[in-house]
Amino acid sequence: MITDNLRFKKEVNSRISGSEEIVLLSHVNPDGDAIGSALALYHYFRNKGKKCTVIMPNDYPDYLKWLPGSDEIIIFTKAKNEAENVLNRAGIIFLLDFNSPERAGKFMDILLSADAFKIMIDHHPDPTDMADIAFIDTLSSSTSELVYRFIENTGDLGMADSDVAACIYTGIMSDTGSFNYNSSQSETYRVLSELLKKGIDKDYIYSMVYDNFSESRMKLLGYCLNEKMVVFPEYGAAYISLTIEEKKRYNYIRGDSEGFVNYPLSIKGVDFVAFFMENDDHVKLSFRSKGKFDTNVFASENFNGGGHINASGGESKQSIGDTINKFVALLPQYITKDT
Ligand code: 5GP
Ligand code: MN
Repeated sequence: MITDNLRFKKEVNSRISGSEEIVLLSHVNPDGDAIGSALALYHYFRNKGKKCTVIMPNDYPDYLKWLPGSDEIIIFTKAKNEAENVLNRAGIIFLLDFNSPERAGKFMDILLSADAFKIMIDHHPDPTDMADIAFIDTLSSSTSELVYRFIENTGDLGMADSDVAACIYTGIMSDTGSFNYNSSQSETYRVLSELLKKGIDKDYIYSMVYDNFSESRMKLLGYCLNEKMVVFPEYGAAYISLTIEEKKRYNYIRGDSEGFVNYPLSIKGVDFVAFFMENDDHVKLSFRSKGKFDTNVFASENFNGGGHINASGGESKQSIGDTINKFVALLPQYITKDT
């Protein structure tokens, strides 16, 4: 990581002052950390008088749409030309919460051909060299926490107002499951303490993110746990799956299954969980683990994905049934009795 490096600070600041327009971009299927980190920098740069735009490769859940600045985000799948024009005008593109081109989804080709200077801020392992400079800490709770430290190290904390703080807090809270995992570094709490001093209402933020679901989403969770959870005590593993038909039955909207993958981890002896969600042209996979089991390796070796040790995702072009069968067949290879 290049935190206290004076050269890094000088380079970033001369690029920022020399650039007319800044783009803040995150990964496909944006989550709280993706939106939080991008909107935090959006407010920060706007406060500094810079022109900047947030672009996301595709849409994101309603429970993040209350965030200040959310209405200004350009969604590539809804406004392709506008997104492309903004990107081509930009002097700097921030790559937030991702580290390889595929994570930009359908936006990848446009991103790769853009001339802008690229600055990566991220906490995922194994970064590619797609950025010109990078601010990376794989031990950090979230990219949003790193955005705070980025502002602290390169800029002007006085320009980070309560909107900046609320966006950063949302990112840290959602990437740690409300400080349940990925949150054992004291540094995270130093940053949180500074955010509270900026005047955020943390209980309001929690409520906006976690207490805003529909009744049918709650019933879908009950259905998944009752009818769709399969446990393999011999492997300390479990999975939940959801088909297109089941999603329709429960009036599924984007984000409704967020967090479902974590529930089986609270069963004694279960430390690896998969969640399979059928979509029109692929199956989306989520993996979570407790302890040493490396879901990043499992996802990248078998399901064209990646992530962190304890939280990863991937994709399958096979049917949901075949995808589940493949997962079940892999368990004996990856999970030995003494792990
Ligand atoms: P989720 O299961 O919440 O979608 O993702 C969990 C973690 O895995 C996140 O850190 C996310 O960035 C990463 N992740 C999810 N899907 C993919 C994927 O298809 N490819 C890669 N490389 N990472 C993913
Ligand atoms: Mn993240």
